[in-house]
Order: sequence, then C-alpha cells, then structure tokens
Amino acid sequence: MKIARKDALMWFSLFAQMQEAGEELGPRQMEIVLSTLAQIETSVEHRQRELKQAIPHLQSLQGRSLYVGDRAQFPGGCAGCLTGSGLTAVRKTNKCNISCPFCYNFGELDQQPPVGEGMWEIGGGRYRVEDMDLLFSIQKKPGSICYVYLEPFMEIDVYPEMIRKFHDAGVYQHMYTNGTLITADNVRALADAGLDELRINLGATGCSDRVIGNMETAAAVIPHVGIETPMTPEFYEKFHEKKDRILSSGIQFMNCAELHLNPNNLVNYDTEPLYMSRLGYLSPAWSRELTLKLMAEADRESWSVVVHDCSNRTKFARDLHLRAMEGSWFGSTTYACEYDQIPCYAFLPILQHPSYSFLEEEELPVGYRLTDIVY
Ligand code: SF4
Repeated sequence: MKIARKDALMWFSLFAQMQEAGEELGPRQMEIVLSTLAQIETSVEHRQRELKQAIPHLQSLQGRSLYVGDRAQFPGGCAGCLTGSGLTAVRKTNKCNISCPFCYNFGELDQQPPVGEGMWEIGGGRYRVEDMDLLFSIQKKPGSICYVYLEPFMEIDVYPEMIRKFHDAGVYQHMYTNGTLITADNVRALADAGLDELRINLGATGCSDRVIGNMETAAAVIPHVGIETPMTPEFYEKFHEKKDRILSSGIQFMNCAELHLNPNNLVNYDTEPLYMSRLGYLSPAWSRELTLKLMAEADRESWSVVVHDCSNRTKFARDLHLRAMEGSWFGSTTYACEYDQIPCYAFLPILQHPSYSFLEEEELPVGYRLTDIVY
C-alpha cells in the first residue's frame, strides 16, 4: 500500500487523538501507520541519496558506514565497533554538569542510577578495579571499550586506575566528554594511563571558545582526539562561525551523529520533520542531511580531519556486527524502536512539510479508507 500523503495526514491526525485518549491501534490501523512510515522513509532516503551523489570521494567502511578523508585518521573506537571484535561499554559516572536538549537523559539527568561506590559497570556486570585481573583471566577480552554514561570529568581522577588496567591488557579505549572540565593536568593523567581516544561533544556548549581551547589541550597529549556531536542546525551554524579554529585544533576526526529521539528528548524536537529508520530510531530528517552536506564540504576543501557519517544506518550495521560477533543467529539484532507504541503525533510536521512529498502514491484500498470502519 503506497498511501498518499493527504490520506496519511488524515489518518495520523486521528491516530494521534486516539493514542492521546489511551486507545491502542488495531492491525489494519497499524498497516496504515507502517505504510506511512515507509513512504516517509523512502522520501527522506531519496534526499539523502541525492546528497551522497554530491560527494565525489565518499568512502565506505566495508559497506557499514561512510566517511570522507584519510582512512588512517578514522577513529579506532568506531573501527573496533563496526568491524573489530566488538565494543564493550563501561559505565561509572551518573551525573553531568550541563543539560543538553538532545541528551538521551534529558529531563532525568539528576535521576540516573548510581553504579556503586568503587564499582564499574562493564558489559552489564559490576566490578572493582581489583577484580579486573580475575575477569581478564577468565573471559575473552574485548578489542575495544568505551567510557559512556553522562560526564566522566565530573570525577575524572578515579578513571586513570581503570584505564591503566585495560591499557595493560592491550584493550583500545575511548571516552566521551562535553569537554567543559578538561584541564592540562587531567588529560595528561588520562594519557599517561593509556587512554587512546577522546571524543568531545562540541555541540553541548554550542562550540564554546573555552571547549575548543580544551580540545586543543587534549589533542596535544592524547593520541586521538576528535568531535562527536549530534548534527543539529544550531551546531552546523556555530561550527561554521569557528570552522578554521576547530579544524586546526589538532583533532583528527569528526563523528557526525544522526540525532535520534527517545521518549526523554523527543519533547524538544517534536515540531520538526521526523522519520523512523527501519522501524528503529526516530530522527529529524535534517540531521543526516547536515552530515552529508558537511561531508561534501570536507571533501571539496580536502579537510585534514576525517568526517564520519555516524547515522542510523551505521547504528543498524553496528548492531548486526555485534550480534554476529556474539555468535547470534542469522537476522538477530537489538536495533529497535525505543517507544512502546509509534508516536503518531510526532509525524504530523513531516506529513505537512513541503520538502518531503511522497515519491509514489496510490489510492487507499477498500477497507482502509476514512469512510470504512478500520480496526
Ligand atoms: S553533555 Fe552529554 S551527558 Fe551531559 S547533558 Fe549533554 S548530552 Fe547529556
């Protein structure tokens, strides 16, 4: 069923009201929802394809992700995650010093569960530093790990001891930060302990001069430093205001994350044109478009940094790879929708947006028309 945009808009307006009243959608109504999501996705992907065609030196990482620039600068953490022996998440810090509208924990930043005094959550289990030798001696160690979970620099002095353990075991390590609390001393301590890669969310502070300066400080001592930030129009604009300084700060890569919206941060973007990627992540259509425009610019101007398309497609591929590394069955994936039910109201803006018309439309079959009783 290639539903027409006007029919989709009528149905979604009704479904949004039903969902607000607490009603569940029936199977035929869900067929209409899924047909609409497919039509929107096809339209969005058509625009993405056109943008990709405008990047002459677009490169592919084994068909799993796209980038432009020198492969040698491609972030090792991403290569490990997408093509290596897998990436294990390490969690420690449950607090952040700022609040970003795009944060996946927006609205509940103060309520993140603690990992435990002296404990680290590694691959879902909890360990003290002194348990690591036991863990390494029994389980197959990962090729790479990343420190995730809010802002590690809130208590950065506890990190070097664990970083040293992983470093001595030969595990590649990267860490995410908003960059606001970086000092020459703390990044030196991380580098001495063996941290391989630091990724700075420059969008968290709107490319503040202080954080760009901190990025320069980190790039002077940590082997691989880059930007990882969700692509938003605000970041795109600020980046261009400070482009020269950012590109000459000593960084090696820019991971352009496609912003995706979970039930926490959707409230900040629900008037934007949204689409759902393979019935998984919900994103503003402009996020990956900005990435592809930036990649075209990097390619045209031969930037010294790699620009990596960390899109929903990349996350989709990443999960297939991780499941394969775990020895899972063919087709196994955990890439999925983050909502209990598809939030129909959130698609009303894209259904009215002039830039996202449907490529092909058909009349609704009998049994699916607004004049029919549809369950
Ligand atoms: S800096 Fe990171 S953890 Fe902190 S609010 Fe922003 S996105 Fe969330």
